[in-house]
Amino acid sequence: MYPKTIQKLIDLFSKFPTVGPRTASRFVFYLLRLPKEESEELVSAISKLKNSVKICQSCFKAFENGDKSCEICSNPSRDKSLLCLVANETDLTAIEKTKKYNGLYFILGGQVSALKKTDLERLRIKELEEIIKNRPEIREVILAFNANSEGEATALYLERFLKSFNKKITRLGRGLPTGGELEYADEETLKAAFEGRK
Ligand SMILES: [Zn+2]
Repeated sequence: MYPKTIQKLIDLFSKFPTVGPRTASRFVFYLLRLPKEESEELVSAISKLKNSVKICQSCFKAFENGDKSCEICSNPSRDKSLLCLVANETDLTAIEKTKKYNGLYFILGGQVSALKKTDLERLRIKELEEIIKNRPEIREVILAFNANSEGEATALYLERFLKSFNKKITRLGRGLPTGGELEYADEETLKAAFEGRK
């Protein structure tokens, strides 16, 4: 229906999270109307993303300056006895904004829905295991997931998985709206949930 080049781009945008073919085609026709300089700016920003942004080998957060570790993992004033597990980077950012947490993080890369095997394979479980085994200084592992069924399933799975490592395992306290996503919780709510973890 569309010229090949347009269809190709629609297919690529359709793979983005939450973007379906209709939205994807709107993106493409928006790009088509864009002045050349602006579309070039976008192309160069995308290629810069791949060339200059690195992924932290400890927490899997994206970072731009430095060598192997992000600004959080390489900060000597962070409390290395605390490891907070989050589903993705936007949740990490939401927690950082509260300035209530001074430990380290680990980004799992998603949540599981009904503990489907395919869901679990997408998560960084092996990497998490390595980190917990190699860092005896970790005392407490905090599970910070959404207050919905996916978050609950993920937390239950990890509680079972982490049992043999003899660490204190806590979850964010009440206060997060049920069904709510962590990244949309306001800062005060998130602060209270962190202080009330058990
Ligand atoms: Zn890091």
